[in-house]
Amino acid sequence: MKIHLDLDCFFASCERAINPKLCGKPIAVGGRSDAKIFSKNFHSRRLYDKNKGAFVPNLFYPENKKEKEDFNSFFVENSENKIKIRGIITTASYEAREYGLKTGMTIRESLRMCPPLLVLTPNHLLYHEFSHNLYEFLKLKIPLIEQYSIDEFFGDLSGWVKDEDLFDFCNNLKKEIYEKFKLPITIGIANSKWAAKLVTSSAKPFGVREVKKE
Ligand SMILES: [Mg+2]
Repeated sequence: MKIHLDLDCFFASCERAINPKLCGKPIAVGGRSDAKIFSKNFHSRRLYDKNKGAFVPNLFYPENKKEKEDFNSFFVENSENKIKIRGIITTASYEAREYGLKTGMTIRESLRMCPPLLVLTPNHLLYHEFSHNLYEFLKLKIPLIEQYSIDEFFGDLSGWVKDEDLFDFCNNLKKEIYEKFKLPITIGIANSKWAAKLVTSSAKPFGVREVKKE
């Protein structure tokens, strides 16, 4: 059987993994782009080699990762005494989605719909590191694993896990991923990759669902 693994509100979950105070709150990741790419203090590097199979843009990240910047000015513009909030939401937490927020909405509109929303500027290096580390972890757990995007994977468990044990295997895997990375994930199980992907979308968030062969 095949499985599809999809991290839940991935960019927002990464931010929570490093800052647990954001848990349980409506948060969104958004802005014009990764603020770091405009800074001359950052060097460009590609993670393609490390992260093959993922849909990855060029990456830019600092030599000194501890370097911190205040990115607020990046997505708030104050010109002619009018404050403009620029950019779109790339990921909203499930708490924010309850207010009707969706990926692609402007930050301005999102803040109008969800006044308590916390907007975080993207940190793509962090997301790629989590994605890469999870991929390395999954390679140890699943004999055949394919990275499909930054937050999605396909796995083939044929001959590795008995059909009757699939659900428990995936449920344990989900728990293990949460304990190790603090990232919620949803897993779909089916007879084909694409069926498994459909199953995942119906099991979100933080679920496991199986569609039996028959
Ligand atoms: Mg996802």
